[in-house]
Amino acid sequence: HVYLDNAATTPMHPDVVAAMTEQMNADFGNASSTHYYGRQAHSALDKARQTVADALHTDAANVVFTGGATESNNTAIIRTAYARRDQGMHIITSAIEHLSVLNPLRRLESEGFRVTYLPVDENGEISVSDFDAALDDETTLVTLMWGNNEVGSRMPIDKVGARLRNHQAWFHVDATQAFGLEDINPAALGINMLSASAHKLNGPKGVGLLYRDDQVHIQPFLLGGEQETKRRAGTENIPGIVGFAAAVQRLDKHAKAELEDRYVGFTRQITSALTDAGVEFHVNGNLEHERLPHVLNLWLPGVSTYALQTNLDLAGFAVSGGSACTAGSLEPSHVLTAMFGEDSPRIAESIRISYGTVTTAEDIDAFAAALIKAVQRLRARAAAK
Ligand code: PLP
Repeated sequence: HVYLDNAATTPMHPDVVAAMTEQMNADFGNASSTHYYGRQAHSALDKARQTVADALHTDAANVVFTGGATESNNTAIIRTAYARRDQGMHIITSAIEHLSVLNPLRRLESEGFRVTYLPVDENGEISVSDFDAALDDETTLVTLMWGNNEVGSRMPIDKVGARLRNHQAWFHVDATQAFGLEDINPAALGINMLSASAHKLNGPKGVGLLYRDDQVHIQPFLLGGEQETKRRAGTENIPGIVGFAAAVQRLDKHAKAELEDRYVGFTRQITSALTDAGVEFHVNGNLEHERLPHVLNLWLPGVSTYALQTNLDLAGFAVSGGSACTAGSLEPSHVLTAMFGEDSPRIAESIRISYGTVTTAEDIDAFAAALIKAVQRLRARAAAK
């Protein structure tokens, strides 16, 4: 079997499993306890926080560990909206954010907040002039993703960050698909809050982070004990956090550059194979633009997502029909809908392929051959009807 759904989740790296196993066996203590076991756990927590903070070029004090990017996004959005209610009730986002951003915003709308959903073009990109037009004196929060999990398009984070430097609005970035793969310096980009999740970079599930700079003062989402310097209650998931740090440590600058080259090569391998075989396809997104290199979304006209995904699965290749959650429900992808309109055939005829650190050129060769075969068979069957 070949796993090509790394935007949904990634396999844990053996170094991560080893670090977590050691933590669970030897240092099971509660980091809040003052005895030896507690101190051991606390020291592991401090070390992990420093590792993750270093990756974000920031101080350890700016990193809060959470139960994943969903919690980080919910906390950043809902708690900022409430904390800054007196300054305004307007929030700006894009139409193609993850549901863990869109659903908190819908909740806020039902409570009287005003939300602008910036539209995207066929490349899955917003326009900075639309952003400028939306920003007003009541805007207290702008929340945009670093890169999109379904099509890989990037948001103009640097431009938006620069514009917000002299504006009251705080800038939150959901960097879940990019953290670990790209070098991110929130302070340099004018980002006040940033979310990430360990399981997207070969770490464990159920652990993430919320970066927040000194300007951000919000109430915790979870109330209880004084963990995470009173910013997130609940006994810390130390094995998960240690695993997160181990995953981050593996992906240094050199590894990131090497991965990006490799992923760009995989995309070229697949698109060239399809072209050489005379198989009609279109990329949902723009490969010429700056983008997340591990995500490739293809429209195969005339071939249903469901049939293709099932065929590939039977042949031993795991790909996605959109985002994991969207594919699991029968809802059409809100990302492709925002890009192409709800009547576009692309919505029911596209697949997402996403690479990870263990993906090899041989995997991609085998996948391209299987994809060509499946598409040709499904098209021939449709033509015979
Ligand atoms: N944001 C984006 C862009 C994602 O791709 C995901 C992954 O599912 C999330 C947020 C949520 O992460 P988690 O499920 O780890 O909370």
